[in-house]
Amino acid sequence: MTLLYHPDTIAAIATAPGRGGVGVIRVSGQDLSAIVAGLIGRALTPRHAHFAKFKDEDGSVIDEGLALYFPGPNSFTGEHVLELQGHGGPVVMRMLLARCVALGARHAEPGEFTKRAFLNSKLDLAQAEAVADLIDAQSEAAARSALKSLDGAFSREINTLVEELINLRMLVEATIDFPEEDIDFLEAANARGRLNELQAQLARVLATASQGRLLREGMHVVLIGQPNVGKSSLMNALAGEEIAIVTDIAGTTRDTVRELIQLDGVPLHIIDTAGLRETTDTVEQIGIERTWRAVDKADLALLLLDSREGVTPHDEAILERLPPALPVLRVFNKIDLTGETAGVVGETEVHVSAQSGSGLDELRTRLLHMAGWHGANEGVFIARERHLDAIRRAAEHLINAGHAFHALELFAEELRLAQVTLNEITGEFSSDDLLGVIFSRFCIGK
Ligand code: GDP
Ligand code: ZN
Repeated sequence: MTLLYHPDTIAAIATAPGRGGVGVIRVSGQDLSAIVAGLIGRALTPRHAHFAKFKDEDGSVIDEGLALYFPGPNSFTGEHVLELQGHGGPVVMRMLLARCVALGARHAEPGEFTKRAFLNSKLDLAQAEAVADLIDAQSEAAARSALKSLDGAFSREINTLVEELINLRMLVEATIDFPEEDIDFLEAANARGRLNELQAQLARVLATASQGRLLREGMHVVLIGQPNVGKSSLMNALAGEEIAIVTDIAGTTRDTVRELIQLDGVPLHIIDTAGLRETTDTVEQIGIERTWRAVDKADLALLLLDSREGVTPHDEAILERLPPALPVLRVFNKIDLTGETAGVVGETEVHVSAQSGSGLDELRTRLLHMAGWHGANEGVFIARERHLDAIRRAAEHLINAGHAFHALELFAEELRLAQVTLNEITGEFSSDDLLGVIFSRFCIGK
């Protein structure tokens, strides 16, 4: 492995901001001797925990704690890494970081440690993204599947596909290079069968990755419903025991317009259209515009109704403004007051009582079905839209290859393009732009 040592040493507070029992400063670079000497005053045994006093320029003690030294290449970044575990107060942490900077380090950019790990082949790109996804995970299921990707489960699937693509390409290239080997030769080597098998494998990876994307990004649901039909009651009832995190983000000055609940580990982002009323208040209008933009990106609309009243003109007006392709699920609530039977009617109607809980299981199942969720699956690895996009484009190249079976040059070219496209996922050939976009979304210290 060739290590890419960056000329500069980076340092950051690796623990979350605020106060905590312990705070960690992380330093990475090609030569940390000046920092170790200046801060600690003695050499550190690799991978040992040293109790040390962290010293300031004038010899006074800033803090005391543990120092750990991981010489490259056996470290997270592949460079030499120093970790200082001090007391987790913001002032102490800032002083320690400032001391590292005074001794020659510079402040790390967001994701820069992970980026160096990627550039030193400690992680591939899908694994590096999984670091961020693990930190950002909004449910246990999302965290577990992020760890799976971090562990390389997703990358292995992609690498297997790429290897088989390479084998098939070699076969085709050989046929091109030796014209005496002709199409019959390819037929005999079952090139078509192998292409079909590749397509089937790619489809399976896409299905799993779609589940992983759902766990990461969740589903955006627009909630339509008049005051008092039972929106809050339904949200609380649906969240039930899976209510790992419930957030209320004030979208306008007067109304909460977003909520997050979990169903089976899948995050559902609920946009409450109760806030979408006619108004002359400028601040509220801005909020409403923002809400409509969110609605345009929604995956599903949930129309909550009072069973006794059904669809009101206000609901109709909002329904009319929704994107025509947006699926709508009608939820008739308060059936305890009308005596209707709980459960699903057809594809798009559910009868429930948020109060008694009847019909809610059917509603959950229906929602997850509409989201495309196939149930918590041990094999699911986390994935992003970027990955799905690459898999879909690779699948198109394989389809094109299938059509070009009798034009060998074209066949070979489509296989090559499929391989290059799949390599985007693990970052084999990735542009600086893409890396910039991916790592800038990390938090600092990662
Ligand atoms: P929201 O304004 O749409 O959020 O409605 P709320 O959830 O605040 O509920 C309005 C009122 O309807 C409250 O008094 C709830 O207790 C009541 N409610 C909600 N769901 C049901 C239900 O299924 N049956 C009955 N009988 N009352 C309900
Ligand atoms: Zn409410």
